[in-house]
Amino acid sequence: MDDTINIICTMCGASLIPDEEKKIYRCDHCGMAYGSSILFDRNGCVKGSKSLEAGEFNDADVRFRCALMLKPNDFTALRGRILCAAKWKDFTKVDDYTYLPAFRKKNIRERIEDAIKNADEEDKEYFDLCMKLLNDVELTSTSVDQKNKPITARRQRLIEDLNQTRQQILDAEKAREAK
Ligand SMILES: [Zn+2]
Repeated sequence: MDDTINIICTMCGASLIPDEEKKIYRCDHCGMAYGSSILFDRNGCVKGSKSLEAGEFNDADVRFRCALMLKPNDFTALRGRILCAAKWKDFTKVDDYTYLPAFRKKNIRERIEDAIKNADEEDKEYFDLCMKLLNDVELTSTSVDQKNKPITARRQRLIEDLNQTRQQILDAEKAREAK
């Protein structure tokens, strides 16, 4: 184990302390502990993405969180943590029927803010779009009580906005993959 590198706890921002005996890194500030095998897993993001695809959000979340401790600007991990908070496998199914409880919305918002803060300059626009999508979802789902009423022109516009934002996100992802 290497005690010369400084790893920051993503839960609270304190430095982690290596525990040689237990093969973990622990945070004396908030009590979180991370196994060194998962923390230094070079394929953490690949495994995290697989878990995300399978809908294993808790496993994916831990792997992405560990990846961010070593590389705070990692695009895959920043995106993954947002999706894990939302319990979405990806952004394709997000629409005006998407419901998010308040605590989840707060959690997603915090992670998007973190992503905007930590991402590379070229990735910030993508995470701005994620924030817009979250706002669009909030705006359309507040009108859910009107499901059986005719769709007003205003609501129609909000739904179109949401669909457009989601498409921009998916296009940006496609453009990244093509690089
Ligand atoms: Zn901590």
